[in-house]
Amino acid sequence: PATSMDELVSLCKRRGFIFPGSDIYGGLQGTYDYGPLGIELKNNLKAAWWRAMVYERDDVEGLDASILTHRLVLRHSGHEATFTDPMVDCRNCKSRWRADQLKDNKCEKCGSTDLTEPRPFNLMFKTAVGPIAEEGSFAYLRPETAQGIFTNFKNVVDATSRRLPFGIAQIGKAFRNEITPRNFIFRVREFEQMELEFFVQPGTDDEWHSQWVEARLQWWRDQGLLSENLQAYHQAGDELAHYAKATVDILYQFPHGLEELEGIANRTDFDLGSHTRGQADLGLSAKVDPNEDSTAKLTIPHPETQKPLVPFVIEPSAGVDRGVLAILTEAFTKETLENGSERIVLKLKPHLAPIKVAVLPLARNKPEIVEKAKAIKSLLMATGIGRIFYEDTGNIGKGYRRHDEVGTPFCVTVDFDTLGRGDDASLLDTVTVRDRDTMSQVRIHINELASYIRERLV
Ligand code: ATP
Repeated sequence: PATSMDELVSLCKRRGFIFPGSDIYGGLQGTYDYGPLGIELKNNLKAAWWRAMVYERDDVEGLDASILTHRLVLRHSGHEATFTDPMVDCRNCKSRWRADQLKDNKCEKCGSTDLTEPRPFNLMFKTAVGPIAEEGSFAYLRPETAQGIFTNFKNVVDATSRRLPFGIAQIGKAFRNEITPRNFIFRVREFEQMELEFFVQPGTDDEWHSQWVEARLQWWRDQGLLSENLQAYHQAGDELAHYAKATVDILYQFPHGLEELEGIANRTDFDLGSHTRGQADLGLSAKVDPNEDSTAKLTIPHPETQKPLVPFVIEPSAGVDRGVLAILTEAFTKETLENGSERIVLKLKPHLAPIKVAVLPLARNKPEIVEKAKAIKSLLMATGIGRIFYEDTGNIGKGYRRHDEVGTPFCVTVDFDTLGRGDDASLLDTVTVRDRDTMSQVRIHINELASYIRERLV
């Protein structure tokens, strides 16, 4: 795995995974742009999550709610009052810091200990809505995707006739005005989340919570993260948010330390209870603020009594960008080859690799070879396995090295033997397939190529 963030940042920029946001104007702190390969990796990760959460289960529905969010949603969710981090100013150099991240209460820039008292800083971005920028005509950029799930609870239940237990899954952007964005894409101001809200009958919540912790750990392992670099951390009493009955953080050994990748919380009936109309009659277990604004009763029939019930919710909430960072960290490998040279290889799980197969013609100025290579690209494309890259830079060795660095599992080379023009006529219609991890090469008949690769890409 990568041991320093710098080597990852440099690979990401050099090969087109991730660039600093607004780069040509000096950058905008806390924003990053995903380049040609980064977008493929990120899309593959999101697709793997969606497949595991929605397609492979029969008890989860999908949703894509708006980013612009009504003020009342984030008032009743509690974010307006409490979604804050403690901020301090350095009186000496005027820089600002998140108080709980400062070591020894010293300014990170100038080392001064002359800091102001911490004061709460709300992390939500506001934006003007409509042409008149009056006080009040604003919306929030959502600070998490979850609230869109709670506010659509009734819509989804009515449309799908779901009964407990069931979940709603969503992937999308979230925005937080972090006081100190840092550590590359680990802590940024604009990021993506993959969130599931899984609604259950009270009394079954502890069991579901543990099941989800196990399922999520296994999913991260399936994405290539090693068990030894993952840890399930059970938050202790005073760390727990006031609404949470239990929270388990999945931590990963990032280059900058063991830090949160995903949180899995048992949020009881706090969220639906906060957003529902008619709170008083519903026998809520969480302590919620009164809500005179909501127009919907967020209940579902109790599985046994059929009486209206506000269910408990288990929330596995993962950061897409932190996932990408963890996966890049784990996959990054530096090897010294037999001839003493060094190679960098991204040992990505094939389903996450931005490019599945590179097809390289041995010579780009030989029309028959080029034509054959393009035909092989089309043949592999037709299998629907993802991006197949036709690469005609002409230098096979350099091509292999480039594809090692971006994690392409297979390189297919088309040469004179393929055309039946080499020394061995029996090699007609065969190609060389090179494996990224072992660097071994095998000769495969074109008719068997698609199935050979498909078998090895899962
Ligand atoms: P942290 O304590 O690191 O600020 P959090 O506990 O506030 O994170 P949650 O509110 O639980 O985070 O959000 C769920 C997930 O969203 C996190 O596990 C993380 O993967 C992701 N996430 C949260 N904030 C950011 C951010 N600023 N940049 C990138 N990802 C983030």
